[in-house]
Amino acid sequence: MINSKFLDFQLCDEIQRSLKKLKYTTPTAIQQKAIPEILNAKDVLGIAQTGTGKTAAFCLPLLELLIRSKSKPVKRSCRLLILAPTRELAIQLFKKVKSYAYLTNLNFALVYGGVGKAEQIESLREGVDVLVATPGRLLDLWEYEKVEFDSVEYLVLDEADRMLDMGFIEELEDLLRMLPEKRQNLFFSATMSQEVKTLSESILKNPSLIEVAPPATVSADVDQKVMYVDKEHKLKLLFHVIEENPDGKFLVFVDMKRTTRKLGQELAKKGFRVSVINGDKLQAARQQAINEFAKGSTDILVATDVAARGLDIKGVTHVINYELTHIAESYVHRIGRVGRAGEKGYAISFTTGDEKSYLAHAEKLTKESVELVTKQPFHSQKAFDTPLMKVGKAKAKIEREKGKVERLKKPR
Ligand code: AMP
Repeated sequence: MINSKFLDFQLCDEIQRSLKKLKYTTPTAIQQKAIPEILNAKDVLGIAQTGTGKTAAFCLPLLELLIRSKSKPVKRSCRLLILAPTRELAIQLFKKVKSYAYLTNLNFALVYGGVGKAEQIESLREGVDVLVATPGRLLDLWEYEKVEFDSVEYLVLDEADRMLDMGFIEELEDLLRMLPEKRQNLFFSATMSQEVKTLSESILKNPSLIEVAPPATVSADVDQKVMYVDKEHKLKLLFHVIEENPDGKFLVFVDMKRTTRKLGQELAKKGFRVSVINGDKLQAARQQAINEFAKGSTDILVATDVAARGLDIKGVTHVINYELTHIAESYVHRIGRVGRAGEKGYAISFTTGDEKSYLAHAEKLTKESVELVTKQPFHSQKAFDTPLMKVGKAKAKIEREKGKVERLKKPR
């Protein structure tokens, strides 16, 4: 059945009112499909990327089920456990789930690594309805007997593919062994590798499969462009693109942590308002960088893939691939930071001759061709004419050179 309004789901008044406040009127495709299944106590296997509305797709019906049921969590436990791969995603999920439930009496806790444990332990002491956690810190607290899983009735695994990429499989297996046998499970992943499939099969019982967009689909609202440029001119090209778009909000991706710092310094020196985020930063600093950028105190966020995956920041107009990635799926994730919720956006790849193979790899995956822009002051015909190499060979070459030439060249 296709619903056209949230009213059709018969969610309680408190949730309906919060949706009104958030100006959600029409359920997205995944919400239309998943909400009735979850309300019917079905396990769900959702293949969906961020940007599709998947968070509300699982939060709304689960909050409804929590409200309808009279059960209470025991001390140090929770009724709904939501696992997320990174701290940023856990924080983002926590904010979203609370925004859907702010009129209810449900209570919440958030647990992630890189910060002190005392407050988190305290927040769990009496038990909570909803716990959002990253697997590592959750296990850590369990080892100190500060969290228990006896009351878990609902489990959500968000971005399961990312969890596996990050090597969380053992933590997940340990956690799953501790959960009560009888529970409803929701499993979300952007991609479906054999590894993800095996993990899903070990968790889900007779699930409903809900797939909203095939993996590696790029939103039609993202305008993809390539600018061929020599390595030593990339910084000048970046200045040029930013200056050409004075109202832009730029997410700039680089390959390595040290490049985020150097590029951030160069942009700041030029007078741009810039934040930097990479996996090395302390949690508080990472969150501060995201907040600055999200709130508009800065116009540019320089990031690595690890730090930026899944971030949902409104109003980003440009994703700049300052350095391309050899992982074609990461290209898709990067450019998925624009063109969200119906907004138009640009994804511009600064491509050297060596990186040309990376772009070709991404085009093959997405089955889309990226538009060439030659009308830019640093166009490199030499880069454009470079013959394609195998991705592995290009990667070896680029990494070899990075080891030697790690300085960012300043524009003359
Ligand atoms: P997600 O895929 O959960 O990260 O959601 C992507 C974005 O879409 C978030 O900014 C949500 O707040 C927004 N969103 C989710 N569902 C709806 C909806 N039904 N109507 C309008 N916006 C929505």
